[in-house]
Amino acid sequence: MFPNEILSLVKDILKKSNIEKTVVIDYSKTSDHLMHYDSKNDQINIFPTKIHELVDHIGISIEAMVEISTCHEIGHVIDICSNGHTYELQLQAYKEKIEEAHRNEQYEWESLKNIQELNDHCERIAWGIGKEYVSPDRVDDYELVRRVITSI
Ligand SMILES: [Zn+2]
Repeated sequence: MFPNEILSLVKDILKKSNIEKTVVIDYSKTSDHLMHYDSKNDQINIFPTKIHELVDHIGISIEAMVEISTCHEIGHVIDICSNGHTYELQLQAYKEKIEEAHRNEQYEWESLKNIQELNDHCERIAWGIGKEYVSPDRVDDYELVRRVITSI
């Protein structure tokens, strides 16, 4: 599937879900993401290389993979739209502690752990919300993808 076909498929899924976001193809080869919701610019970035890689690895159709990944990002959109400010404040507090520790030539393991936990929390929430948006016949594949790409 060509990148522009992935793009229009994502747009269709968003429209059906009544979610309007700008969608951008990102050719960055270093991404670990299939897609990423960039809350600062309020847009969804797509990484076609990674999507194709995982389709080959898991053995589900590319249409299913695109739908699953889009629904997961919808989960982030909905969560961040209601809780984003809280996350930013928490993240900022942890980062300040880490910087403070660096100035004293120390490490702030607790804050690093908290950032990881905050990320895991956001991922869990997004996977949970996204599942409500995926087609019923793709729920099993949704869980499969989740297990393969996350440890949460
Ligand atoms: Zn995610």
